Formats: sequence, C-alpha cells, structure tokens
Amino acid sequence: MKKLIAGNWKMNCTNTESIALAKAIKADNKNAEVLICPSFTALSVVKDVMGDNLALGAQDCHVTDKGAYTGNISADMLQDIDCHYVILGHSERREQHSEHDNMIGQKVYTALTHNLKPIVCVGEHLDKRESGMHIETVVTQLKSSIPLGVEANDVTVAYEPVWAIGTGRTASTEDILEMHEAIYAFLTERFGVAAENIRILYGGSVKAANAKEILSLDHVGGVLVGGASLNADEFNGIIDAA
Ligand code: PEP
Repeated sequence: MKKLIAGNWKMNCTNTESIALAKAIKADNKNAEVLICPSFTALSVVKDVMGDNLALGAQDCHVTDKGAYTGNISADMLQDIDCHYVILGHSERREQHSEHDNMIGQKVYTALTHNLKPIVCVGEHLDKRESGMHIETVVTQLKSSIPLGVEANDVTVAYEPVWAIGTGRTASTEDILEMHEAIYAFLTERFGVAAENIRILYGGSVKAANAKEILSLDHVGGVLVGGASLNADEFNGIIDAA
C-alpha cells in the first residue's frame, strides 16, 4: 500500500499563494499518494491547476447537507468540486469548535455518502500522556469517531498527539510505535483482517529531516503534515522520504 503524504494548510495562503504552492509540489514518488488540503476558498482554484498525481482534500465538513449553518461547508459542496478526502476531528476543530467523538462519527457517515474519504484524527493531550492514559484516551476517541457500519477500506486514521502539533516536539519512535500498534489492535478488533487496509498516519511536527524514520515504523501508513506542508521544499522532501 502506498504511503499517504497529506498536507494540511489550515487557515494559510491566499488563492494566489495556494496556486503557487500547489504547482511547486513534486508528487513523483511512486511509493506515495500525495494529498493537499487547502482552505475552503482555495479548493476550486487549486483543483484547476494541480497535477493529476495530487489528491485534493478539505479540512472539515458539516454533518448535514444543507441548511441554516452560517459559515459551514457541506460534504455535498465538497463532492461538487471533486474533492477526494476530508480531514475530520482535527484537534483544532475538537478544541476550537467543541467537536466531539459522536459528531465526528456522524461526519464520517456524511462524508462517505458523498464519496469523500474521511481522515479521522485522534490524539491525546499532554496530561493524558503524562498520567499514562494516552492509549485509553485514543481508543475511546476511535470507538465513536469511527462509527459502526463503515468498511475498513473507507477510512484513514491520523494519530496526532496534541502536544506534538505545531510545537516542534515530535513524538519519539517508541511513542509512535506503541500508539500505532494500539490503534492497529483496535482496528483489528473492529474490522478483522481488513484492518490491514487502513492507513494509520502519524502527525505532529513532521518535517523532511524526520520523515524517513517515522515512515519506516511499523503500522505507519503515512503522515499528516501541518507547518512543513506550507513550504514546498520541505513537503517535497517528505514526499521523497516515502
Ligand atoms: C497538524 O496540524 O495536523 C499538524 C500535524 O501540524 P504540524 O505538522 O505543524 O505539527
């Protein structure tokens, strides 16, 4: 299975900057599927200029298809502009928009209804890790964020320890191995052998310099990259590392 190298541009880049960044990405590593997730306003313009070897993703979608939800974007709208993926339950959404596991699970259903591949984000805060509750926390998140009834092939999981996001503090290889093994065990319990088809991404201060080591770890099916995805050279270095 190809490694998924996903860039989450968050609330960065004007349309002009997004176009330039998308054009500068060299997604020519056959071992990698490369995904970029620009802001909502840039999705269409990026789609028009990006190469065929890139996939397009959004950073969130609403639970419902339409209605009085000021400022939200529906999965229906994302499908309409040929988005392939949608990031759901990113820790910034969980914290800044009070998103909880059940809501994320509902969004997964909605995304799948619209042919979008959900990337379900989970990850513990520092206090949970320090108190030894990190695995329990993440497994609890997974139980509701991946709703019953979905197929293994439908989902991608991203493990992103909150304390490693945007901090420059990458989780150690031991931390990543331990958590990815635990996530894989949960997925195997839920999906049986089909769990092998689920890519489990790591996210948290990934850069070109540490990507190769992270991507070589057991049960690491790719990386979800924030800050480093805004710099084409760094992101290309991560793609090369796959
Ligand atoms: C993220 O926000 O998903 C992320 C992993 O950010 P960063 O790479 O900047 O830590």
